[in-house]
Parts: sequence; structure tokens; C-alpha cells
Amino acid sequence: MDSTRHNGRVALVTGAGSGIGLATAIRLEAEGAVVVGCDVKPDAVATAQANVPSGRFTACDVTDQVAIDALVGQTLDAHGRIDIVGNIAGINDSFLPAHEVDDATWDRVLAVNTTAVMRVCRAVLPGMQARKDGRIINIASIAGLGGGASGLAYTASKHAVVGITRSIAWTYRADGVRCNAICPGGVRTNIVSREDPRSDWGLDRLRKFHNISERMAQPDEIAALVSWLASDEASFVTGAIVTADGGWTAG
Ligand code: NAD
Repeated sequence: MDSTRHNGRVALVTGAGSGIGLATAIRLEAEGAVVVGCDVKPDAVATAQANVPSGRFTACDVTDQVAIDALVGQTLDAHGRIDIVGNIAGINDSFLPAHEVDDATWDRVLAVNTTAVMRVCRAVLPGMQARKDGRIINIASIAGLGGGASGLAYTASKHAVVGITRSIAWTYRADGVRCNAICPGGVRTNIVSREDPRSDWGLDRLRKFHNISERMAQPDEIAALVSWLASDEASFVTGAIVTADGGWTAG
């Protein structure tokens, strides 16, 4: 933890009320950033506000372009800049395999996990280009690298986040914008609960892969990497797809 690392920077964090997003908002504030965030759940917004008192958090669905534009616009009006973006909001897909996936699950998972990442990036990039400085960190998943971790929709959505990350990194590299993705393994968060619907068939097929995970991460182990990728220490790192999975996919 470096309490001055992000002094003077403004960070926008989606999904800021739980898990990796909350840990990221807490860490970026502790490291000097002004943090603006959103979450779709009002209780999660309250959690973020309570844990990050200097920040400003609003209820906002990242799939809603009007809401995204309003959040970005209000942040630019208030602070004049957005230096760091953490695209962290995400949902699981009940581990539904291809022959079980329904259109509603497919559409919602792609909307939250993929399309919203594009929409937030689209909204912040012009300002970053104008200032010749921007640090975007997208949370993908090891499900963005292989097929053994989750269901069809989640896997497709996270592979797309890897593609978005590389496209932005390449296209805007001369504009001072860096864009990187993190592929976490299992992290102790609220993304999956025992009460959620789940495909027994799908989970049975994934079990062999799930069983070789050594341990789950704490959310701050991922937030620390977000912070580093957003920092000047990572000034030459862009287009990187960084696994943070305790070696799960290293074998
Ligand atoms: P989490 O459920 O604890 O936190 C996600 C937050 O995003 C929640 O507060 C939720 O309300 C919010 N959110 C969901 N849909 C939203 C929307 N439409 N608009 C705004 N906010 C919304 O889960 P987490 O594990 O911290 O997930 C964070 C990211 O990490 C996700 O992109 C997820 O896919 C990714 N990830 C998680 C794991 C894991 O094992 N937990 C592994 C790999 C990747």
C-alpha cells in the first residue's frame, strides 16, 4: 500500500459495492485517488459509500448508456478528468452449458460483462485522448482464456473482454492510454451464492478443472493488481492480459 501513489487522480469504478470492485475502491482511496463509483444494487452503493467516505457512489446499471454517460459527465463536471477506470461490474451465468443456455441469460451476461465494458470505455476515451493519459483496467477472468471455468455465456463474455482490451491497447497506444485486463481465478466475493440457480450438468463437466484450483483469492489480492496497473510503475504495460489465479492455469 502506497498512500500517495494515486494522488491527484480520479478513478471510476463499476461494481464498486461488493467483492473486487469494493476492494478496489477502498484501495484506490487509500492510495490517494478520488473515487467515483456505481453499482446496480442500492445496498451495495451504501456499502461503497460507508467504506469509501471520500468517494461518490451512485446507483447505476452499467448496461444503460444514458446512465453511463450521466456518470461520466457528472464526474468530468465535478473533477475535470477521469484518469483511471476499473471495469469491474460482472455477473455469473449459472454455469449453463451451450445446450441449456436461455436467451435471457445469454443477453444479460453479455450486456453486463461485455457490452458495458465497451460503453464505459467509449464514454471515457475522448477525455483520456485529449489529456494524453488514461489507465483502463478491465476485469476479465480465467474464463476469458479457456473453456473450463464457467458456462457458455460467461466464457464468451470474458473472451470478448480480452479482445476489447487488446483492441483499445493497440488503437490508443499513441494517445497515452493504457488498457490492461486481469484474469482472476476464484475470488471470495458475492458473485455466486448457494441460492443461485445452477446447471448440475454444466458444473459436473467443469468439476475436473475446478478441482485443480489451489485456493481462492481475497478481493484485495486482485485490487492490488488493479492499483499497480493503474500506477506509473506500469507505464510500459498495455495490452497485457494478466492472470491472477494462484497458478491454477499454469500447469
Ligand atoms: P460481486 O458480485 O461480489 O461484485 C460485483 C458487483 O457488480 C456487485 O456489487 C453487483 O451488484 C455489481 N453489478 C452487477 N451487475 C451490475 C450492473 N449491471 N451495473 C452495475 N453494477 C453491477 O462479484 P466479484 O466477484 O467481485 O466480481 C467482480 C468482477 O470480477 C466481475 O466482472 C467478475 O466476472 C470478475 N471475476 C470474479 C471472479 C470470482 O471468482 N469472484 C473470478 C474471475 C472474475
